[in-house]
Amino acid sequence: MSLRPCLFLDRDGVINHDPGDYTKNLSEFTILPTVMEALTLAKGAGFEVVLITNQGGLAKGLYTHQDVADIHAHLNDVCEENGTPILDIFYSPHHPSTGKSLSRKPGSLMVERACAKHQLDPARSWMVGDKQRDLDAASPVGVRGVLIEPNAPLLDAVNFILDECS
Ligand SMILES: [Mg+2]
Repeated sequence: MSLRPCLFLDRDGVINHDPGDYTKNLSEFTILPTVMEALTLAKGAGFEVVLITNQGGLAKGLYTHQDVADIHAHLNDVCEENGTPILDIFYSPHHPSTGKSLSRKPGSLMVERACAKHQLDPARSWMVGDKQRDLDAASPVGVRGVLIEPNAPLLDAVNFILDECS
């Protein structure tokens, strides 16, 4: 089986508006403009889409795994309706205030697991994030990164990536 290219995306500040604090539940989850257009372009170019997100608010007790599941079920529904289903979502529930974790970004374990589970090709894949740690979680695996400002248009980043690939 041939390996597939993937667009890895951070969640908060890339997919949904990040107010600078945690997105604790579905009522606080607002998908940013251009995201669906960007996913359509990326999928059309042959990229799978996988979310890689730190959810340290779980370790802090700010919200529950059910809150995260509700958000991700909603996001999956919206993406399905858009014709651009997300392949998988990986989240790390840990935070340094309560313990060390290998999965939490900038650790690369979530990206490594995604590549192994879904036969993804790191050399043809990209990470888009709004923090340097998003990119640092991908580069050891051989995945290139695009750093954007929080809540900036994902479409601009995807257009940049498609230009680089052409
Ligand atoms: Mg972020």
